[in-house]
Amino acid sequence: MSAFDSNRLQKLRRNLLAWYAKHARDLPWRRTGKPYAIWISEIMLQQTTVAAVVPYFERFMRRFPTVVKLAAAEEEEVLRHWEGLGYYSRARNIHRTARVVTTELGGRFPDDVSSLEKLPGIGRYTAGAIVSFAFDKPAPIVEANTLRLHCRLLGYDEDPRTAAGQNVLWDFAERILPRKQPGRFNQAVMELGSQVCTPKEPACERCPLKSVCVAFANGTQAELPRPKKRQVLTDVTEATVAVHKDGRYLLYRRGENERWAGLWDFPRYQINGETGAALAAKLESQIQESTGISSAIGDRLVEFRHGVTRYRIRLLCYSAEYCEGRLKRGTELKWVRSEEFSAYPLSVTGRKFARHLENLSP
Ligand code: SF4
Repeated sequence: MSAFDSNRLQKLRRNLLAWYAKHARDLPWRRTGKPYAIWISEIMLQQTTVAAVVPYFERFMRRFPTVVKLAAAEEEEVLRHWEGLGYYSRARNIHRTARVVTTELGGRFPDDVSSLEKLPGIGRYTAGAIVSFAFDKPAPIVEANTLRLHCRLLGYDEDPRTAAGQNVLWDFAERILPRKQPGRFNQAVMELGSQVCTPKEPACERCPLKSVCVAFANGTQAELPRPKKRQVLTDVTEATVAVHKDGRYLLYRRGENERWAGLWDFPRYQINGETGAALAAKLESQIQESTGISSAIGDRLVEFRHGVTRYRIRLLCYSAEYCEGRLKRGTELKWVRSEEFSAYPLSVTGRKFARHLENLSP
């Protein structure tokens, strides 16, 4: 930190803003400057790249152009517009926040960090982004791009994800923030982190901050930030079943405490090494228990592999024919034609299986 005296800070700000004036990308949420659009884009950009977010953002804003329209929508429709972005708790929180802003705050977003942080799904970074980008008030930000950039600028070689590391980075983010145009400055910091100070092979030769960067001076940019410890992945096998009755398939809506809460899915169960007749019997009994109907497991149709948090999942997809019984009361179960699948928000693998079934339909 001591390496950044006021002359060095001035140089950093000057060089960065001059670079940004020439290199800022034209992104749809930057054109509006409205807190609603900035909030939606920032939540979408968590865990997702800019290129992937742009089409989702544009479609979402066409359907929900204001916070009032979003608040008035059913959660299921919001989830349907989020489908494919993953981390669905973000979409449910967006919907909850839209309702709080509309009913309790008169449709206006607060312009200070502490009030914003009280809203569902808004943390310190998102609050700082809304306050600085939309209201042009000074609020520091640290997210993945700025974390990397600041570690290198400071030559910080401890773990930046610990509480101590976070303090160092947030302090630095606050210290470098100018009083004039803090929103533009924060956007410039993020843009440089994503476009120049990239995770692998940062483009130091064309970086406007190389004259103030400690990592560049020490030649340590490839080693910083210190990498996360690798997470150990656990292998899991699951089975999902397309139970068929009179041209329709059985879907259920995932409950509040389940993975992908609020989305629809084909019945899905964890399996523990069973195969053949033993697996079919187990699935038939689980279907009976969870839905109330009896069915006969048929062929394995397809298999997908996917990851969820620390699990590496092998998903075996089966067909089954309905035999008898009525759907349990009090559960969200529906018989749905394959042509109607597109109206239901599904998990990513649920959607892949649905497309497979659509292609099988005559
Ligand atoms: Fe990142 Fe290199 Fe620029 Fe330093 S000089 S901020 S390491 S791109």
